[in-house]
Amino acid sequence: MTNLPLRVEQGGGKGARLVAESAFAAGEVIGRFDNHWVTRKPTYLSIQVGPDRHIENLGQFSYLNHSCAPTVVVDTERMEVRAARDIAPGDELSFFYPATEWQMARPFDCLCGAPDCLGKIAGARDLPREALDRYEISRHVRALLTPQPPLSPETAQPAQPPESPKPPSPAL
Ligand SMILES: [Zn+2]
Repeated sequence: MTNLPLRVEQGGGKGARLVAESAFAAGEVIGRFDNHWVTRKPTYLSIQVGPDRHIENLGQFSYLNHSCAPTVVVDTERMEVRAARDIAPGDELSFFYPATEWQMARPFDCLCGAPDCLGKIAGARDLPREALDRYEISRHVRALLTPQPPLSPETAQPAQPPESPKPPSPAL
């Protein structure tokens, strides 16, 4: 993740932001998470990659702000960041946090200024389905959105008895 054509800009009333230094075409891979670690609990800087998996230590990508009109997509299966649309040098890189976050550690009032800004951002759990359908949503969030059908008596499996401890195999 070194030497990506990106820079972090401080200030401007919005805190730090990640800005492109070169152009990217829509769909192009901007960079990959190659030095991350996995935690069980979300933090302010983590990105959710599974029902109870979150990644941290994302380098410059930890400066990705949220936008309701995002310029990048975070692909939590390929562990990469792609351009959501054509990006010009100087454009801010931002992604739609609820595309990965089910329930955020720190909800906030969005000030992205997009015409269809959703306002309060607290995670996918708190957004209407029609709002989420406008975005490319991670697989683990889609799975949480899909109601699980109740088990019918025919398909329900009886509880397995606890396995008895196996005797140690003899050393060869
Ligand atoms: Zn917004």
